[in-house]
Amino acid sequence: TTPAESTAPPRGLLIVMTGASGVGKGTLRELWLRDQDVFYSTSWTTREARPGEVDGVDYIFVSPEVFEQKVQQGGFLEHAAFVGNHYGTPVEPIEAALRRGQDVILEIEVEGAMQVRERMGDEAILVFIMPPSLTELRRRLEGRATETPERIEKRLARAREEIMHAHAFRYVVVNDDLERAVRELEAVQGAERARQRPE
Ligand code: 5GP
Repeated sequence: TTPAESTAPPRGLLIVMTGASGVGKGTLRELWLRDQDVFYSTSWTTREARPGEVDGVDYIFVSPEVFEQKVQQGGFLEHAAFVGNHYGTPVEPIEAALRRGQDVILEIEVEGAMQVRERMGDEAILVFIMPPSLTELRRRLEGRATETPERIEKRLARAREEIMHAHAFRYVVVNDDLERAVRELEAVQGAERARQRPE
């Protein structure tokens, strides 16, 4: 009989993308994944859906009670509070994807990324997306018609704190030019694949 490990596919890469709200993580992720079979982890959140957001696609929208239940059951790889709401990454779909050899992308805030690193160790590939400047970040947040001025200020204050943690990340990508930033993300993926699966 063949030992199980020789038939199991190599584990997928676990890539954790972090950066301030408004930095363009979502747009970058969409461009990056356009042509690839990568598993994007849909988070759970207690925040209200924005117009146009679809339950089960953008997020799984749940009540604080249902969220808390999942926390108690140990159902999240990580979870964090962000500007008055809770966000969490369900652990099971990710483990399943990694086991079948599929790369996984998480798009989460800094506190959650630190938890993933704590739990997954070196397997977690942390990438920090940096805004060109705080002025530009403000401009992008103000362009989102869905945020009140008060919430924009809160998100900017949080961004300042998050940027101070950038040094803890294995990779930093500045999102001043979308196409270049996407090429850098692809380079990260290629480098990590070579590192984890030497020929
Ligand atoms: P938004 O309300 O703008 O969709 O998200 C607010 C912040 O929460 C963003 O920085 C986003 O990346 C982050 N976020 C989304 N899903 C998760 C998650 O599952 N866990 C954590 N820790 N942060 C998340």
